Amino acid sequence: MKAIAFLFLVVALFGAVASTRDEPRDPVVEAYRGLVAQDLRLATVGYHLAKGSAEYCRNTWRNPGWVLHDLRQYPDTDLAQRAFTFREPVSIAALVADGPAIRAGLSVGDGLAGFGGSEIWYGGEPVKKRATSERLDNVRDQVAGALAGDGLFRALVTTDTGRKTIAFDPPRVCASDFWVDVRSKRDAGADGERVRVTSGLIEYVADDDELAAVVAHEMAHNLLDHRARIERTKSGKTAVIKSTEEEADRLSIWLMSNAGYDPEAAISFWQRYGKATSLGIFSAPTHYRWQDRVRMFREEIERMASHVVKNGRRDPPLLAEHRSIK
Ligand SMILES: [Zn+2]
Repeated sequence: MKAIAFLFLVVALFGAVASTRDEPRDPVVEAYRGLVAQDLRLATVGYHLAKGSAEYCRNTWRNPGWVLHDLRQYPDTDLAQRAFTFREPVSIAALVADGPAIRAGLSVGDGLAGFGGSEIWYGGEPVKKRATSERLDNVRDQVAGALAGDGLFRALVTTDTGRKTIAFDPPRVCASDFWVDVRSKRDAGADGERVRVTSGLIEYVADDDELAAVVAHEMAHNLLDHRARIERTKSGKTAVIKSTEEEADRLSIWLMSNAGYDPEAAISFWQRYGKATSLGIFSAPTHYRWQDRVRMFREEIERMASHVVKNGRRDPPLLAEHRSIK
């Protein structure tokens, strides 16, 4: 989860408090913790969506079900250390309940010391005044590399009882990563690999079912390689974008259902959000009017009801079609 933007916001909001010695510093600590809570909420909803349809996705990867953070990404490292436990500069900020990492015995605060036989080099870099997520991004890339193959994923971790290697095998799930974009504007997006949801939108949704509706739509763009399709399109781009939006809406209903979320939440979200504002996400001319989207969700829920169920899950027609593309 890229948290850097949020932290600049935190500094803007609480900087005055933090810099005045006589004032309590707790608001910053609370803001840091609030960020991690949002990261975990998004990571959890994303994990369930990715796992729920895992067997139907052509694009898969292994998700350990953890949220990592770096001491260096926080503007005030002393306060970050008050807010959290860091057993290494890059540590586990949060764990998805019942996810692979927690089941392997990892705990919040455990620090990452290395992967697959090589250690992370934490020394030697110049101390930067500004908060940065550069090192965290680098570690995340290393983790992704180590998880790319099959077989056991070996993490060298520093725990409360010392260093140990924890080997575990996160199952393959639909390929998507998730990050909280900390801005008050209600917005979400997908870049082909990652799903981005703003903190403003996370605060706006009524519950996790509605958050799942937003995340499932964006994830659908990634799972169906929409970005690549749009980039390949030379003319008539608007029509292609519009069709990708409709596909994302339709697939989102199946992804939600397969993960145990209530697909009706897509309708409740769009009715409330659509009435409240015509700005923000999906308001461009390439997107449907919210009334049309609600109608489409209803159609798709009905269509899904007559589909064959396997272990409580259904193969989404759009993913079946995507699997058949060579
Ligand atoms: Zn979209």
